[in-house]
Formats: sequence, C-alpha cells, structure tokens
Amino acid sequence: MDKVALATLGCKVNQYETELIREQLEKSGFNPVSFGEKAGLYIINTCSVTEKAAQKSIELIKKARNRSSLLLVTGCYAEAEKEKLREMFPWIDLVVGNKEKSNIGNIINGNGKNHQEKQTYIGNFNAHNRAFVKVEDGCNQFCTYCIIPYVRGKEIRSRSLSEVLREIENLAEQGFKEIVLTGINLGLYGTDLNPQVKLVNLLKKAECLKEKIRIRLSSLEPHLLSVELIDFMAQSSWICPHLHLPLQSGDAEILKRMGRRYTLEEYSRLLRKVREKIPSVAITSDVMVGFPGEEESNFSNTYRFLQEMKFSRLHIFRFSPRKGTRAYSIKPRIGEKVKKERSKLLRDLGNKLSQDFTSQFLGKTLTVLVENRRDPECGSLVGYTENYIRVFFQGEEKLKNRLVRVRLIEVKDGTALGEIVNTRSSTSLRARSLACHCERSEAISISSG
Ligand code: SF4
Repeated sequence: MDKVALATLGCKVNQYETELIREQLEKSGFNPVSFGEKAGLYIINTCSVTEKAAQKSIELIKKARNRSSLLLVTGCYAEAEKEKLREMFPWIDLVVGNKEKSNIGNIINGNGKNHQEKQTYIGNFNAHNRAFVKVEDGCNQFCTYCIIPYVRGKEIRSRSLSEVLREIENLAEQGFKEIVLTGINLGLYGTDLNPQVKLVNLLKKAECLKEKIRIRLSSLEPHLLSVELIDFMAQSSWICPHLHLPLQSGDAEILKRMGRRYTLEEYSRLLRKVREKIPSVAITSDVMVGFPGEEESNFSNTYRFLQEMKFSRLHIFRFSPRKGTRAYSIKPRIGEKVKKERSKLLRDLGNKLSQDFTSQFLGKTLTVLVENRRDPECGSLVGYTENYIRVFFQGEEKLKNRLVRVRLIEVKDGTALGEIVNTRSSTSLRARSLACHCERSEAISISSG
C-alpha cells in the first residue's frame, strides 16, 4: 500500500482540509504516515497569513525534497505564489490552489476532472477527540493587512445546513465528544445560501441532533456576533461558553487603518454584554503588533485596552507585509526588534490574564473532555473545560474520551491541576438543563436572514 505523509501549517480550516485529503486518500488505499517517515507521496498544506508562516511552508517544502517520492503543495501560500514556487522548487510535482484542494484525492488518483465529486465526511481525527467541521469558505472583509480574501476568495461559500448537520451527526456516532465549527469567516456562514441561514440557526439545529456533542465556535469577527447568538449560547446545553473574538489592536487609529469594522467602544460593549449573559465565558483574542505607523503611544493604548478587557488567552502576531494587500504600502514600517519587544510584552500580559481568569475557578467543579493521550511530560490525564481551561489530573485509562467532572485545586501558568469529582457523563459548567431546544428551533424561520 502506498504511504502518504501530510503536513499542515496555519489555521483550523487548513487542518480540517488536510484531514479531508487524508480521508480521501485513505479511502483510495493510501496509508497515512507521519511527515518524518518515508512515503511515496508528500502533501504540504501551506499557509501565507504571515511571513513566518510562509517561511515555514518553504522550509517544509525543502525538507520534503526526495527524488523518488511525489510532492504536492497546496494551501494559501501555493495559491498566492504558484509561479514563484514552481521557479524556486522545480522538483515540486504538483501545485494545487485552494479551489482545487477538495479535489486532491481525485487528482492523485488520476481522475482530476471530476470536480463535481461531493466532499466526503471526515471521520479520522485520530490524535484527538475533537474534530473540526468546516462550514464556510471565503472572506469579503478585506482588512488592510490580510491576504486571505485574495488566496481564499472573496465569495462566501457555505455548506448547506443539512450537509453540515449530517457531518456532525456522523462524527458524534463515531464517538467524538466535541466539534469545533470553523470557517474562514465563520460569522458570514449562510449569508450566501438561498434561503439565507444564520450561524445561530445552525447551532440550534445542531443542538437538537439525536447524538449529543459539545460544540465550540472557532474565531468570530466581533461585528458579526449577534445578540441572538449570545442569547442562544447563554441558555444552550451544548455550546461551549468560549468565544474567540479577534481584536487586532486596542488603539482606535490603528484599528481604523487596519480596516476593522468595529470601534473600541463597540468591542468593549460587546464583551460586557457577553459576560452579563454568560458569566463563565472565556473570551480569547488575536492581537497584532507592529502595524505600520504603530508608535509607542498606540502600543500603550493597546496594552491598556487588553488589560481592561481581561481576556482569558491572547494570541500575539507580528505584522508582516503581504504583497497585494493595502497595508503593504503603508509606511513607516516598524523594525523587527521593536516588534519582538512588543510581542514579548503582550505575551507576558496574556500569561498574566490567563492566570487571573483561571484563578477565578479555583475550587469550582468544571466539565473536562479527557483527551485520548496522556500528557507526555507528567503522564496525567489532560483536557479542556467548556470554557477552555486546560486541566491536568490523575485518573484511569477508561476516562479517556469522556466528559468528567473535575474540581480545580491549583492554578499555574494559566492551566489548572484538578481532582475528579465523579466519572459519570457530565452535565455542564453552568448546571444547565439537558433539555434540548428542538421545539423552539423548529419554529425558527431559516430564511429570516
Ligand atoms: S475578516 Fe479580515 S482578518 Fe479575517 S479573514 Fe477576513 S480579511 Fe482577513
């Protein structure tokens, strides 16, 4: 049997798409092996969201050079730099853009013309018990620094409600206990469907599926988070109280230059509203340092704003100019040394905020989804709570892939040590009713837009 080795860089959507390719190839007889192993086919799913991600993509391509194997490169870097890749690395056998990515199984099997083939369902996220479900592709927001609308397309492409629900059900039947709904711009889900559907409609339907599964939302643009969605999350039994709301900058002027579609006042009002309705919620965020023209005073504003917003976790990125975006030509650019210093300051702040957030739950009992692998360093069981706290605790093998109740007894570096309270399948953090809301959601008009 031919061996295939796959590597992924970048976002959850890319990870999901790699799983899709893996599944397609497995079905046609390939044996997936890890990227370090010898294989007949190497596939690299690249990313170009930052210069660093692009650089990593190139390093992997160099590493995969092997005259006797086939090398296929896909993903956002491949989409943005097709010609450059072919020139720089003539040994690459196939460069496949994002639009053709879902068709890689057919291309490899010599059936590349069959573009109409439907996506298969993903069932093999073997490393974890959390599966990603991609519901939407494309973004039309054109933030000035972002290459995504150019490499993923500006047209929104949403999967139908029924197709997504079938996939969720399929994953639940296979034993997955949590899914993460992802999209290039998740908040735009359904805006292109006819009749239109909203993300909240999908969640209401998903909560009513026969097989129960915990649902987490991946990144949501703040201006697309509706009151209806917040209200639904607040009373839902299965939607995790966790929102990732990318802020990018806490300075009004920089935010405007980034082309973001909210003001700082709107953002902080939104967080107040979310916390009022869902007190246990974890709010995580992305912040970019070193946007062109970011002076010390702009950076200090960001620092202060982050302190005030009390995020539970921060992802810090350094600006890198992407050719073709509007920010590429904005001057003056900030030096790498300054960017590094600012990143470090924000990472330290992020660690402190994580510690503060997690400490609030000391002594409380939360529901943890136990991962299939023990922590390699300490041998403990480990998993995430609904509100995204990583908890380590002692327990038996049989608890793997189960929802268990764990009391937090110590907090360190934003993570927690816990002890099991009981091992039966759990109710949730907010002691919510397990009743589903089918009747209510049945009454919701999906065409309400
Ligand atoms: S919303 Fe902005 S940052 Fe996010 S993918 Fe779209 S253009 Fe990029």
